[in-house]
Parts: sequence; C-alpha cells; structure tokens
Amino acid sequence: MDPKQRNASGTHSTQSRISTLPREIYALSSPAWVGAALLEQYTPILVVDAHTMRAQRVARLLTLAGYRPIVATSPVEAFTRCLRGSWEPEAALIGAVDQANRLPLTRMVEHLAKRRGRELPILALPAFVPELAPLHADPAIPYFHTSSPTSVAFFEELWRLLPQTRALLPEPERTLALDVLPESGLNLIPRTSQRLRSSRRHFQLTLNAAARLLASQGRSFAQWRTLLNDVGLAHAVALTRWPDPSTSVNERKMGDDGGKIGDADDLVVPAVDLTCLNQAVAFSAPEHPQQQLYLWGYQGTEASLHGQRSSVAQRAVRLLPRDRAMQIMLNGFTRELDTVRGEALHHWRLQPDGSYLLVHYSNLYVYGRMWGREPACQVWLGALDATLHYVGQENNWQVRELECSCQTQTGHCVFALRPRT
Ligand SMILES: [Zn+2]
Repeated sequence: MDPKQRNASGTHSTQSRISTLPREIYALSSPAWVGAALLEQYTPILVVDAHTMRAQRVARLLTLAGYRPIVATSPVEAFTRCLRGSWEPEAALIGAVDQANRLPLTRMVEHLAKRRGRELPILALPAFVPELAPLHADPAIPYFHTSSPTSVAFFEELWRLLPQTRALLPEPERTLALDVLPESGLNLIPRTSQRLRSSRRHFQLTLNAAARLLASQGRSFAQWRTLLNDVGLAHAVALTRWPDPSTSVNERKMGDDGGKIGDADDLVVPAVDLTCLNQAVAFSAPEHPQQQLYLWGYQGTEASLHGQRSSVAQRAVRLLPRDRAMQIMLNGFTRELDTVRGEALHHWRLQPDGSYLLVHYSNLYVYGRMWGREPACQVWLGALDATLHYVGQENNWQVRELECSCQTQTGHCVFALRPRT
C-alpha cells in the first residue's frame, strides 16, 4: 500500500522529491508551553457505574478522546467528588445504579443542574463498551494509525450533545511523518507498531516517577489512586511504590528503581496505558499541566540515567565534540526506546543545517489519542532535556516537537534538536 494513502476519504498528492528538509517546517513547531492551561481543552465528564470493569473501559475511552473523566461507583461518591472538585461536569454517563441509589442519583443530577443553571445532559452507558483505542495501529495498515469505527461510534451521542468536543481530524493534511520526510531522501519510511506493547520495567519506572513527583508536591496516595481510577488505570495502583515520607528528599527524587530502561523484560504493558498515565499526570496539575508533564519526563529520565551508574562512559561523552556527543546520545536514546517497545520505532537524522530530527513512530504517551489542537509530548521534551543534561549538552541544544500525532492523527511524532545560537 502506498504510504501516502491515509484513508478512504483523502489521499496525499505526490510532490516533487526534495533532497533536504525545508526550513519552513519549523514554522509548524510550537513552544514547549502553549497558551492557556491544557485543561481548558479537556471537558469534564462524570461516569457513574457500579460495574467497575466497564467504568474503567469508559474512562480509558474518554481519556483518549480528550475528556477529563470523573469516575464514581455510586451517585453518593459522584456527589462528593463534584462538591470537592473545582470542575463542573458537562455531561454524565450513567451505567448500573442499584435500587437503593436511585434517589441519591436523582438528587445528584438535580443539584448539579442547579449549580450549572441548566440541565445536566445524561446518557445511559451501553452494555457493550469497545476496548479498542479510537485511533489505533492496525497490522493491515503498516504506515499510519487509523480510527476504529466501533470506538468512534461510542462518542457519537456525546458529540451530538457537546459538538465542540468532537475529536476528529477536520481533514487530512500533508504531514511531516507521512509526506515530507519520506520524500526528503532521509530514508524515513513511516511504520507502525506491530506489538503495541512496552516493557513492564519501563512502565513501573515512569509510574513511580509520577508518584514521586506528585508526592513531592504534597499529594496523597488517595489522590493518586483517584487519578489513576479516573483515567482507567485502576489496575496500576497496586504497581505503584508510593514514596516513604521518612526517606530524604534526594532519595525520593531519584527513587531506588533505577536501572536501564532498556533492560530486557516482559513486553506486556499495552501502549495505551502509557497514554492514560500521561493524562493522569496532566490532570494532576490543572494550572500548569504541560510543565507538569515536562517535569515528569525530566525527573523520570534523570532517575533512570542515574540508575545506570555508567559514570565513566558519561564522563567520556562529556569530553567529545558537540556533534559526536549528540550522535552518541541519540543512538543510546533510540536504542533504549526500541528495546522498551521490542521493535525499531525510533530514528534520528542529521540535517544539513546542523540540527537533528528525531522521529517516534507509533509514539508512546500519545498512542490512541484522538485529535487535539496542540502538541502533547511535553514528557518527551523533558526526557530529551534530561538526557542532554546527562551528557553535558544542555546548553548547546534546544528541543522542540515539530509535529505531534495529536494534531495529525498519524500515530507519529517528530522532534527537532537544534543548536542554540
Ligand atoms: Zn507528540
């Protein structure tokens, strides 16, 4: 299949081959921190369902479609959370509610309507809730991600009620990952993940890095548990090592779960779990979610590099010329991530202008996400900056995300590392 044929509704025109990447592509990039708080883009949706497995599936779907789910098993719990939370749900999805909870449900809906000054839209949850991510890698389509009609259909009624939250790409556009880079002579042919898994060890490292970050900001384990439950990661609560308050700040910062993130281990974690974790971290700091994601990426990578204890190699790289150090760093970075995924999905290329391109195919942390307005991979910007710092190159290079799957729906993200002038 031609990699430029993205879907039935739109194909990409073939343009003349270009030998180098045009500078104009940098105009697509956005600064690390963009505009108003990220959460302005995330509409809160209340989910009340006594069937916890279904509620978790709904939470994951809502998270991937750009909502901020608030998940409760009963109307009383939902009511309590709505009273305590600083947000107002724009709609409620109601699943199983037993007889004893009928009256509390009515009261909760009435109360929320009164507080909003208008009725709260209510939808009944269907018995069957799809598990597949709305945007996913289909083995039959090896170049780009595609939408699942069943999973997209789940949102149709919600989108009809809240049309401004419809998260579908307006129209196929020419993208770096699918059009410009394959035509540029850089040998960057798009590919999608075949495994759709990542390593258990990497997941635990990132999970515990998030837990340490939140604990250092005064959050409690109960708040952490609620956050994970809201994004459909209730099963990950048991995997968390919540920091012991008796340890020193430094120990808590670095953690004791170091070790190479690329250590071979079971590739059992669904890629979508990393995306939901990313959103939990974003939701943990409603006033500055992007900075929070950056910090998480930076601290998690710092702890992982610290755990490698390869100080001799680190010192040797620090003595190398700037470009040689960068290439060794990028080789190590992409090799470790390929090991985490169990497949070659990360590539870098030197540009004629002295900058470097880094492409993450079927990118983790945004896998499954539907359309969004802004680049969403602040966690990778933090990880790259921490790695640059590790090899003494942080003052020489600037990292930006040029194109995010959240904007293009290709599944792929493109980063640039440009020399600081
Ligand atoms: Zn991205």
